[in-house]
Amino acid sequence: MKATGPIPAGFESGERGLLEIGERDVDTLVTQAGGTPLFVYNSQRIADQVRRFRAAFPAKVGLHYAVKANPYAPLLEYVANLVDGFDVASAGELGRVAHLGLPISFAGPGKRNQELETAIRAGVTINLESEGEAERALLICQRDGLTAKFAVRVNPPFGLKGSGQKMGGLASQFGVDHDRAPALVRRIVDAGVEWAGLHIFAGSQALHADALIDLQRETVALAASIAEEAGQAPPHVNLGGGFGIPYFAKDDPLDLQAVGTALADRLARLPKILADTQFSIELGRWLVGEAGVYLTRIVDRKESRGKTFLVTDGGLQHQLAASGNFGQLLRRNYPVAIANRFNAAAEEEVTITGCLCTPLDLLADEVMLPRADVGDLVSIFCAGAYGLTASPVGFLSQPMARELLV
Ligand SMILES: *Cc1c(COP(=O)(O)O)cnc(C)c1O
Repeated sequence: MKATGPIPAGFESGERGLLEIGERDVDTLVTQAGGTPLFVYNSQRIADQVRRFRAAFPAKVGLHYAVKANPYAPLLEYVANLVDGFDVASAGELGRVAHLGLPISFAGPGKRNQELETAIRAGVTINLESEGEAERALLICQRDGLTAKFAVRVNPPFGLKGSGQKMGGLASQFGVDHDRAPALVRRIVDAGVEWAGLHIFAGSQALHADALIDLQRETVALAASIAEEAGQAPPHVNLGGGFGIPYFAKDDPLDLQAVGTALADRLARLPKILADTQFSIELGRWLVGEAGVYLTRIVDRKESRGKTFLVTDGGLQHQLAASGNFGQLLRRNYPVAIANRFNAAAEEEVTITGCLCTPLDLLADEVMLPRADVGDLVSIFCAGAYGLTASPVGFLSQPMARELLV
């Protein structure tokens, strides 16, 4: 038997033992959506996270949503009422949020000239990833007589300790090396373009408050030293994010209050050059990850050499991360349940797979669950971020998953 991650708070069993999401049971949700496989996102859960963020962090720290975590249109519309800005990483993402009326910043390597032009015309802040990109963007402004807002994304000399994905302190396609950032700031200012500030993102999926506290302290100090060297006060500093959620057994939730208190402390005694700077934190996973559930129906139950397999109509083509193939070093089980026996006792060990012709297509490996059979529903939790759009949906030409915000 192998362990599974903790089912996030707020998911309850309703009548007949059916899992309820946003006070609607899974049978009703599947009928409403037209079938399985289905991602359900609970809007209340997202609003609760935003409330927790606002309570923990000082008012001068804005909250941005990183669109790549989940770009489902109804979810973006909902989130637009809760956050202070969107961070996009392509012109495609920009197109999904441009009409929602919030400030937008555009980071990401490899911005094509057409994307830069679209973003500049839309009044978006461009987070420049290199000197070359800066020159291309400046040329577009000159050529078309456009004004623009340019921020400099910095590749910091430090990273986020213990984070799932380490960034920072390394050679990178993201951002300009910190020691070259002041010169790029000067270049922007001298070219007569509005300098919007700095963007420093150093990692993702951190569960340890101490690592984030250290990171934010280093980030504020780095922003101050770049600003000093450039001789320019930054209007805005995006401190990155990297707040994680528990996916696996023994993962503890992030102590948000500790991070917020430490940052409030830091911002209360800022170096003079940052005295008028606005700050923001950009989050994807932490805001929406626990709000999502992936529902898939059991198509076959079979025994093989002493093991019981539940084969479902879903799989890694929709939920790559749960299969362990989205950058994980070691495959571990996401939180999982039989959604129509949500309050039943675990009584057998099963392995749950998708319907793809590859042994990689594993949704839960050797887990203890209530007895389940063909027609029952499997729920995989923590599916609200990096789910459908972070999965190889074209693989094996299986039907697309449905999505629903409730
Ligand atoms: C992906 C990304 C994020 C969001 O990261 P999460 O771990 O989902 O919070 C934020 N900022 C940048 C620059 C990113 O690339």
